[in-house]
Amino acid sequence: MSLTITSHEVGYKELKASKIVFCDGAYAEKAGFFQKLHFNPAKGEVLTIKTEAAPEEVFNGKVYGVPIGNGYFKVGSTYTWDEENDLPTEGGKAEIIEKLEAILNIPFEIVNHEAGFRPTIRDRRPYLGFHPEHTSIGIFNGLGTKGYLMAPWLSELMTKHIVDGEELPRDVRISRISKKITL
Ligand SMILES: Cc1cc2nc3c(=O)[nH]c(=O)nc-3n(C[C@H](O)[C@H](O)[C@H](O)COP(=O)(O)OP(=O)(O)OC[C@H]3O[C@@H](n4cnc5c(N)ncnc54)[C@H](O)[C@@H]3O)c2cc1C
Repeated sequence: MSLTITSHEVGYKELKASKIVFCDGAYAEKAGFFQKLHFNPAKGEVLTIKTEAAPEEVFNGKVYGVPIGNGYFKVGSTYTWDEENDLPTEGGKAEIIEKLEAILNIPFEIVNHEAGFRPTIRDRRPYLGFHPEHTSIGIFNGLGTKGYLMAPWLSELMTKHIVDGEELPRDVRISRISKKITL
């Protein structure tokens, strides 16, 4: 790896910084510096549909629909735990279609089908903070099922922590899980 770490500086190729914050999502447990932190990733599938008839507004029910312009909507999603692969499945697609048809009585065309993992933590709280021994290495992860919703607020907390030295709320600190994180 091209990363060099000292107590006061992090280097990556020609870049130098006082800190690095890893934001590598659900794969952090396998590849990152914080492998002792436990993740419980929740797989989810999403369809992109095209419809001429739906209003350009978010809709929500058994599934949600988010307009992305020109009659296209992202519609989802499903939940599966203990899955290894991130491929879309026919079962996931059928589940979303069935729920969508129950709330949207208009014709639509499926133009895309995707799957991904939510970086979910057992206690449903994020992992924010810096390594107890290697204090220049941080983590911003565990945003779970409501990551889009929480990211702006959590980013503000993390920024104030780094720039102004403000303490992170206990609920989001990595230290709540383990004091024995090793690289
Ligand atoms: C199907 C589904 C539906 C969802 N619906 C909602 C919702 O309705 N509302 C909501 O608030 N949240 C929702 N979420 C959750 C939200 O998507 C996540 O909480 C959020 O994406 C987490 O953000 P993140 O940046 O921590 O991780 P990610 O979005 O996973 O981003 C991590 C990034 O790091 C990259 N990466 C990892 N390892 C490396 C590496 N070694 N080198 C370079 N890059 C690397 C990955 O490729 C990825 O781009 C949903 C998630 C899924 C999967």
